[in-house]
Amino acid sequence: MMHVDFLPRHLIVVGGSYVGLEFGQMFRRFGSEVTIIEMAPRLIQREDEDISAAIQEILEREGIAVRLNASASPSPNEVKNGCESGLRDGHSEVIGTHALLAVGRRPNTDDLGLEKAGVAVDAHGYIVVDDQLRTSVPGIWALGDCNGKGAFTHTSYNDAEIVAANLLDNDPRSVSDRFLRTRCTSTRHWDAPV
Ligand SMILES: Cc1cc2nc3c(=O)[nH]c(=O)nc-3n(C[C@H](O)[C@H](O)[C@H](O)COP(=O)(O)OP(=O)(O)OC[C@H]3O[C@@H](n4cnc5c(N)ncnc54)[C@H](O)[C@@H]3O)c2cc1C
Repeated sequence: MMHVDFLPRHLIVVGGSYVGLEFGQMFRRFGSEVTIIEMAPRLIQREDEDISAAIQEILEREGIAVRLNASASPSPNEVKNGCESGLRDGHSEVIGTHALLAVGRRPNTDDLGLEKAGVAVDAHGYIVVDDQLRTSVPGIWALGDCNGKGAFTHTSYNDAEIVAANLLDNDPRSVSDRFLRTRCTSTRHWDAPV
């Protein structure tokens, strides 16, 4: 997607989470017509509902079409998406010129020869690690997206901090201590002095 050097006339983005929304908004601002297809009832469903609603409003204000509760099925010759939308408009179809499938990422571990080293992976290809990111083989650690413990730059960076603390500082930091996300139920958290 980063190598696209032309403007798709109508980009259909399948997947309404971070990556799909980022690219959808980017290409809309470049000038493409953009439709985002999401199978869930709301965008970025790991966020709170009001966040999903606000993001959808922002995108629609920019002219992006959002189809929720929709399943996508491309045909060989043109991009078609059968769409059962939550708007009760029955079964409609979106035809675009290009499609971006932003429906999730998988770890790039299949060509590393891990099996030869005896490093265990799970059924999805993530390297199995303990709470301090040791793999099944002594002396080998797995950090970042490949261990399935996070999918962000900051979690990858924190993985490095955990391993460095354990290896170099005799500090038993662990992944389960990581403060990844919370739901704020009171304003006290935000008012507290930093
Ligand atoms: C489109 C997109 C948007 C994102 N936006 C955000 C965001 O806004 N905020 C955020 O926190 N995270 C974001 N992420 C996630 C973030 O990029 C990753 O979580 C992070 O880069 C993971 O770091 P990593 O070091 O584990 O892996 P990577 O950054 O993927 O680095 C792995 C490196 O290893 C190299 N490599 C792979 N196989 C081999 C091999 N066999 N030999 C040698 N080198 C190899 C790769 O070329 C790559 O350079 C985004 C991801 C995508 C795809």
